[in-house]
Amino acid sequence: MDNLNGAKPHFVIVPLMAQGHMIPMVDMGLLLASRGATVSFVTTPVNAARIKPVIDGASDAGLPIRFVEFKLPCEEAGVPEGCESFDLLPSVDFRKPLFEAISLLREPLKLYLEEAKPRASCMIADICNWWTTEVARELNIARLVFHGPSCFFLLSSRNIHQSNVYETVADEHESVVVPGLPQRIEITRAQAPGWFFEWKEMQERVMEAEEAAAGVLINTFQELESEHIALYIESTKKMVLPIGPLSLYNKDAKSKATRGNKPSIEEHQILRWLDSMEPRSVLLVSFGSMVRTRPPQLIEIGCALEASGRPFVWVVKEAEKCADVEKWMSEGFEERMRARSLVITGWAPQVVILSHRAVGGFVTHCGWNSTLEAISSGVPMITWPHSGDQFLNEKLVVQVLRIGVSVGIKVPVFHPEEDKVAVERDAIESAIASLMGGGEEGDERRMRARELGEKACKAMAEGGSSYKNMTLLIQFALEQCKQ
Ligand code: UDP
Repeated sequence: MDNLNGAKPHFVIVPLMAQGHMIPMVDMGLLLASRGATVSFVTTPVNAARIKPVIDGASDAGLPIRFVEFKLPCEEAGVPEGCESFDLLPSVDFRKPLFEAISLLREPLKLYLEEAKPRASCMIADICNWWTTEVARELNIARLVFHGPSCFFLLSSRNIHQSNVYETVADEHESVVVPGLPQRIEITRAQAPGWFFEWKEMQERVMEAEEAAAGVLINTFQELESEHIALYIESTKKMVLPIGPLSLYNKDAKSKATRGNKPSIEEHQILRWLDSMEPRSVLLVSFGSMVRTRPPQLIEIGCALEASGRPFVWVVKEAEKCADVEKWMSEGFEERMRARSLVITGWAPQVVILSHRAVGGFVTHCGWNSTLEAISSGVPMITWPHSGDQFLNEKLVVQVLRIGVSVGIKVPVFHPEEDKVAVERDAIESAIASLMGGGEEGDERRMRARELGEKACKAMAEGGSSYKNMTLLIQFALEQCKQ
């Protein structure tokens, strides 16, 4: 461990069981362990089985990280057995019960902490795990919160909430200017309704959990959002440490491919295909772990990809594939696209793909992990937000960083049951043309993306801003050991 004179802090990480939260927190745990800290990572049987290659890899490398399995009381909370992560839920109606089930880990966590050796010096809890506040307080353990979204989103949401700006408009589709940002950014309440807007009680608990925390960790980097980070510190008056992009912890294709689920394609297969493509020529289309695209919209995307004339990797989820889509694909599309496409059904090794030199563009739902992974690889984006923090992330990518082209969607897609087409093929095709071509404007966009990618790598390398913040985090935990 660097300059810590042999002393070792013990971090206990309590993630939210959702891929978009779990994946960066696993990276964070591995990173802390690789720098010599002892780490206990809380998980459950289904989640542990999903990340078995990570657990085995950490053990083979002798990293001081243990994955602590607690049984998730699904039945007690009304969650179908085995659905231990948000992406595994059969319907959105089970979201609240799953939050409830996770909060029931309070007692086993407390017991673990009471007996942990060495004693836990610092807890890092996902912001959604508000119930950890009480556990940490009772046991007198310092607690930091981990934020999955961008600082731009956190600051915007905070300012919107504190200013009550939505009360100045009658309609949820009427734009307001987000107060207190260095840029003029307009948003609607429908696009950015705020944390847990439908569950007021949960919203208050999450805000209290942040208020009570000794500090805040964000998966971002100083050079990407410096103005927003400074304003967020000013507003929260807390220790705020940008420690990302955490995905850059994974250096080789093998470790990149172990993030999340088991990929439905071998990494050497995808690498062979990408190796055969021209640099920066391929478009990746993938919408994270939660979005479910309905058949008519999938067909619309397929038609746009065909019309674009560009090579592409298209990730279609198991849950999205259905007889209609399979029939449409087999009636000519697959055959016509064979030479220039790879359709991955299931989980794709996203970072393996994004970090390959053949990839020149990414059609994304603007989940923060996906956005930051594209930024880390210097890949510009077509932004297609669906809900949550994604519309604000789109503003950051398109208006502030100017490394993206919006597909033009204005209204969130909350009800994937609906068979409506939200974006027509012509709009998708035109966004592809301007992202992958786009003349001088396109070249400048690509150049900005490339520069940000370089800055991201520097931030994570020894001596970089996120590396130094990790050191501060470790030192903070060491201070707690002395108290
Ligand atoms: N991901 C992946 N393969 C897939 C789908 C998603 O590796 O086929 C990863 C992606 O790289 C990212 C995470 O899952 O790390 C998704 O997080 P994000 O915040 O982008 O979106 P969410 O799933 O939370 O909507």
